[in-house]
Amino acid sequence: MDKIIKLSRSTVEKYLHCPRCCVLDKKYQIKPPSLPFTLNIAVDNLCKNEFDYYREIQKPHPLFFEHNIDAVPFKHKDFDSWRNNFKGIRYQSVEHGYDFGGAVDDVWQKNNGELIIVDVKATSRNTFDWNETFNKYDYAKAYKRQLEMYQWLFRKNGFKVADQAYLLYFNGKKNEKFFNNQLKFDVHFIKLDCSSSWVEGKVIQTVKLLRSNEFPLPSIKCEYCNYLKNRWKLSKMN
Ligand code: SF4
Repeated sequence: MDKIIKLSRSTVEKYLHCPRCCVLDKKYQIKPPSLPFTLNIAVDNLCKNEFDYYREIQKPHPLFFEHNIDAVPFKHKDFDSWRNNFKGIRYQSVEHGYDFGGAVDDVWQKNNGELIIVDVKATSRNTFDWNETFNKYDYAKAYKRQLEMYQWLFRKNGFKVADQAYLLYFNGKKNEKFFNNQLKFDVHFIKLDCSSSWVEGKVIQTVKLLRSNEFPLPSIKCEYCNYLKNRWKLSKMN
């Protein structure tokens, strides 16, 4: 029996975006450059603290009434582990030889017992138009796929999960007259109709690629590989 491959939702997302990047990351530990999103982490934490208050007392967050969400933040003994980046909620398939997981931001529970999967995002734009962003940018589609992968994980762990999921989007206001050391945000509840039916197939395909000797070609659209290629060509000429 092959060794179990441990993979996260970002490995599967890399496979979908560019299989070569997935191989470079998982087999060779070579990752594309990225910046730490410290402001996002701060927003995530503040949001977590606020929702934990309502989780503890099992009452809806006041904004739920405004957005017609009939739910309360979900309370469960494993909740802290599910949102821990080094643990997360996981599912292991012995048949296909993988252990797949991801760390969720929040989960709410509807009156009928179904779970609503939630992810928190932060940005700062003059106008916030989710539909336009979703149609224009792949990263927004990846946010939806992220929610669908978490939905699948909760289903595989035996929970009843609603098809609707939420992005809790905090938009930092950058045109306030005075700063006063306070960054103010608008909060947008983005309700998404999701389907996790594709997830299992893509997880299996990712694992198959990682077990094979295949080394896929780079994507011609990717700015990182193009940068390296052009940089390499130039250094050979000089
Ligand atoms: S093309 Fe981009 S995404 Fe693919 S391997 Fe290169 S850096 Fe990674």
